[in-house]
Amino acid sequence: MPTSPERQKRRVNVRTPEVMERVQAEVADHYQSSIVEKVRARNGVMTIGNTTIRLAKQFGFCYGVERAIDLAYASRRVFPVHRIFLIGEIIHNPEVNRQLEAMNIVSLPWREMNGQYDDLNENDVVIVPAFGAPISFMDKVESRGCLTVDTTCGDVMKVWKRVRGFARDGITSIIHGKADHEETRATASRAVGEDGRGHYLIVLTLEDVDFVLDYLLHGGSADAFRERFAGAMSEGFNPDIHLALLGVANQTTMLKSETEEIQRRVREAIVKRDGHADNFSVFDTICGATQERQDALFDLLKHTMNLLLVVGGYNSSNTTHLVEIGEKELPTFFIRSAECIVSLEEIIHYDLHQKEEVSAYSALFSAEEPIVVGITAGASCPSNLIEDTILKIFELRGVDAEAVRSA
Ligand code: SF4
Repeated sequence: MPTSPERQKRRVNVRTPEVMERVQAEVADHYQSSIVEKVRARNGVMTIGNTTIRLAKQFGFCYGVERAIDLAYASRRVFPVHRIFLIGEIIHNPEVNRQLEAMNIVSLPWREMNGQYDDLNENDVVIVPAFGAPISFMDKVESRGCLTVDTTCGDVMKVWKRVRGFARDGITSIIHGKADHEETRATASRAVGEDGRGHYLIVLTLEDVDFVLDYLLHGGSADAFRERFAGAMSEGFNPDIHLALLGVANQTTMLKSETEEIQRRVREAIVKRDGHADNFSVFDTICGATQERQDALFDLLKHTMNLLLVVGGYNSSNTTHLVEIGEKELPTFFIRSAECIVSLEEIIHYDLHQKEEVSAYSALFSAEEPIVVGITAGASCPSNLIEDTILKIFELRGVDAEAVRSA
């Protein structure tokens, strides 16, 4: 639904120099780590006794997340007594979300709008998270006359520009992403275009893509197609019509190699069907921060390590892909915080295959043998959680926090 022109947009800029000075000091106090900075300055390596920590060159908060957190903190400074709401979570990290809750910033549901949205009024402030929000949510907030602080990352908006362009040209967007992820939902809402007549299909796996391409080349049951992609395609999607012109875009945090493979397969199928690639468009919309973190992990994996810890929120897409990269090479554990490390042998972690938190045993490490632990983290993980992880590893090897700080 297009935004009514008569509605007054009430977006507010909370980034005044005086506010930002205070906010940045607060954010640094909550999330920065002197130990992590020290290890970074040493080329990512810290060895004490026979224990070595290796950090990836790039990990943790990206520019989009830093900006979103700054803006959320600034909102409370600028509006000390207003009710402040947030559509869903600012980013996928429980620690950060806890801090915002403590500032009385109330999270609203992001999948469906409920009565809380009807209760909003013009004195309320609504923060839009770094992932963005679907157009229907933005329209609702605007129709309630709320003050809006929009923290949508510029890289996400670049994807919106691409899919809107596809819709304008009558091209169906194939969006590589998770249908139930905030960013992909926001992107999908833009893929129907300004007039709402465009179409999209969300694919997550190579199997999804192969299913689509098999239909594209050989036809099949449209009902079976719609059943498979229920909740992951535009309203009225007809595979007999809407696979004619295809454009591929992706959620900004997907695995680069997989997105490239999807692009390759779609292009190949279109050339096979049409004899040329004129009906295929592609824009790589993986963001720079995701790419850097994946590349940095590939570099880290060139070193010999006993195990890899990936720190982050379990619902974080970019963190999940770091785990996928790591687990192909060595024992890899996806942990939400240092508390998950019961011992170096027993680590509570999120198992991507079982889709649940499990307690698992890695190899036995004797105190006399040297050990190398690799650490990385997704774009939504603050440095203080990495610091806790470093301290915990050394503690389990008999080195106390003081010794680590003064090393
Ligand atoms: S991961 Fe990328 S798209 Fe998402 S907030 Fe960070 S920089 Fe922006």
